[in-house]
Amino acid sequence: MATQRIIDFLADRRIDGPCLVVDLNVVEENFNAFRHALPDSAIFYAVKANPAPEILKLLASLGSNFDCASVAEIKMALAAGATPARISYGNTIKKERDVAAAHALGVSLFAVDCVEEVEKIARAAPGARVFCRVLTNGEGAEWPLSRKFGCVPAMAIDVLTHARDLGLKSTGVSFHVGSQQTDTNAWDAAIADARFVFEALEKRGILLTLVNMGGGFPTRYLKDVPTAEAYGRAIFDSLKAHFGNRLPETIIEPGRGMVGDAGVIKAEVVLVSKKSDADENRWVYLDIGKFGGLAETMDEAIRYPIRTAHDGGAVAPCVLAGPTCDSADVLYEKTPYPLPLALTIGDEVLIEGTGAYTTTYSAVAFNGFEPLASYVI
Ligand SMILES: *Cc1c(COP(=O)(O)O)cnc(C)c1O
Repeated sequence: MATQRIIDFLADRRIDGPCLVVDLNVVEENFNAFRHALPDSAIFYAVKANPAPEILKLLASLGSNFDCASVAEIKMALAAGATPARISYGNTIKKERDVAAAHALGVSLFAVDCVEEVEKIARAAPGARVFCRVLTNGEGAEWPLSRKFGCVPAMAIDVLTHARDLGLKSTGVSFHVGSQQTDTNAWDAAIADARFVFEALEKRGILLTLVNMGGGFPTRYLKDVPTAEAYGRAIFDSLKAHFGNRLPETIIEPGRGMVGDAGVIKAEVVLVSKKSDADENRWVYLDIGKFGGLAETMDEAIRYPIRTAHDGGAVAPCVLAGPTCDSADVLYEKTPYPLPLALTIGDEVLIEGTGAYTTTYSAVAFNGFEPLASYVI
């Protein structure tokens, strides 16, 4: 949402070119909503969603932990004030020398999803704690993470046994139900899988303690989404159903749900045209597109709310595209986007819900366009 602070900031600064403005008050509200919804779960903010130093500092001061995917992200979390004990190296795909670098920085919690990765960790971070990621089907997610990460639960048993045999501390199970997960029950099957792995390992004398329930908590784009509270209830009910009175320690790793609705991109209409006199759709070209930060419009997966000064007037379907000379730089075409007929060249638009996965996806200088500017207020 464009908060009054964001609107005032943009009116005051008259910034030229597309830019993201993030309101820290909203990030703080989101953090508190997660803490309230799942009071017994530790929050590990997924740094990749938006690593702006001001955001990391705020979250560190509020008591957040950090899920990092690279040594650079670990250093950002440390610079923001997090201690190494509050950082997990949650990427299942790591170079051994990066594991060693994280270990040297004091990080001691690592994700794995195969014995090959366990062996790297045993060599480069001896004695560290590891959790094994299991596959989920990603159903109900608008940005599914598919089969790239995780293994089947039966394999997780062997992975964690191997970790123990190599002197690591086999700590638990993780999963990610897919990003922008709109089904509050999506966690249930994965929590059941975690319980299955816990039981199998208990029989081998390994007592797991941690379930890392990942991210997936949504941002409101065009459609309403359930509240953090509703997710918290559904997740807690599943934990109770599958673990009974022996509830494990839990972690959540919100990225999108922490910062998505805290940010708004200001953009400008560069061109409005048609491809033929008979064309039903107008083409609206903005000064931002897939390469300027809106990569999640890929396959039209994420549909951002767009505000204009003409809202309320008559609308007509538009194909929305970015400014670069790449034909892939079309945001919405299969499902055209209704925009006001009065919208014209030079108008500013506000693209809402863009606090997550925009600055990090922005190209360095495709066609010479500057990377997405970012202001945190
Ligand atoms: C990206 C990522 C997250 C954050 O996911 P969201 O859907 O943005 O909440 C959490 N955990 C891991 C391991 C990730 O890779």
